[in-house]
Amino acid sequence: MYLQHLQLHQFRNYAGQSVEFAAPKTILVGANAQGKSNLLEAVELLSTLKSHRTSRDRDLVQEGSAAAQITAALQRDSGPLDLTLTLRANGRRTLSVNSETVRRHLDFLGHINMVQFSSLDLDLVRGGPGTRRNWLDTVLIQLEPVYAYLWQQYQQVLKQRNAFLKQRRAHPERPPDAAQLPLWDQQLASMGARVIQRRYRMLKRLAPLAQKWHHTISGQQEQLVLAYAPNITHDPEQPDHLYGEFLAQIEARAGAEYHQGITLTGPHRDEVDLLINETPARQYGSQGQQRTLVLALKLAELQLIEEIIGEPPLLLLDDVLAELDLNRQNQLLAAIQERFQTLITTTHLGAFEAKWLDSAQVLTVEKGQ
Ligand code: ATP
Ligand code: MG
Repeated sequence: MYLQHLQLHQFRNYAGQSVEFAAPKTILVGANAQGKSNLLEAVELLSTLKSHRTSRDRDLVQEGSAAAQITAALQRDSGPLDLTLTLRANGRRTLSVNSETVRRHLDFLGHINMVQFSSLDLDLVRGGPGTRRNWLDTVLIQLEPVYAYLWQQYQQVLKQRNAFLKQRRAHPERPPDAAQLPLWDQQLASMGARVIQRRYRMLKRLAPLAQKWHHTISGQQEQLVLAYAPNITHDPEQPDHLYGEFLAQIEARAGAEYHQGITLTGPHRDEVDLLINETPARQYGSQGQQRTLVLALKLAELQLIEEIIGEPPLLLLDDVLAELDLNRQNQLLAAIQERFQTLITTTHLGAFEAKWLDSAQVLTVEKGQ
């Protein structure tokens, strides 16, 4: 896929800006706080309808305006495509595909596929489990847009169930209607089992790709294990059993939930195991090992998305090249070549290898222009 054109209107610090992507690599160069990441964020929003920087649309709309608009023109194997996303300070959104308004998020998602790699992603290994769960979810939303719906439904049930448990704990003398709980449990298990299955399946496909990249980048010296680690023990090859196991484990933790007042079972507490030579990379990996691992995960993600959708996704590199040493920069460059359209931000062009500049389009970003 190729992103040809992006137009920003009252979005973040862009009053009105049109950008033509004239080469497979675009380097956005500029001082801090000029709008480089904002531009990548606009692409992220079109791709996932989410921003990793904020969950409130009013942060995205230019200060003093009521609405922002992001428009993109892209070329996919199936033909040209136009996407428009209108964001309002009051949170209401309008989505359109090829100038037709679409009502369901499902119909908007999956048109722009991308992999993001920013300096924040270095936390993928050293950060908490939530960082890794978010990463899985962002990939899944693109590959199976229905996942966005499923995950949202799961969180809705979780929120209601938690509110119930909290109220029961706070007011044991007048507890909420106990008949509600089994209904929440069933919904939680039903949605949760589907979330777990999808995450599990995706990681199973991703793991060999990550291992291959990791092998290459680390100079074939280390063994990587990447696996989904759900807090519900079950046989992953028997997905039909998962619902029953889920309910059984809710039951088993009922006492603890009573005291703690929160839901203790489910994919909102799952982990992704990352082991290098059988030791957890999070606690024991050196900084260099962690960087190598993140790079391997990102390259695997790129390859997996390409395999599944059949077209190379976009790559958004935000401020990350300067964090990679020469060897890792070269590995990345060799892996993407001209095949993946790449948007790169940097504060100075000297931050990376001159090779990156060959045939790249360089755009200077200053004060939202
Ligand atoms: P860095 O090199 O530090 O990462 P950057 O060029 O990536 O910088 P951005 O994050 O793209 O910077 O832009 C930040 C700028 O955008 C800040 O000056 C911020 O005040 C401005 N900004 C963010 N949201 C809005 C908004 N809703 N309205 C107006 N300006 C905004
Ligand atoms: Mg930035």
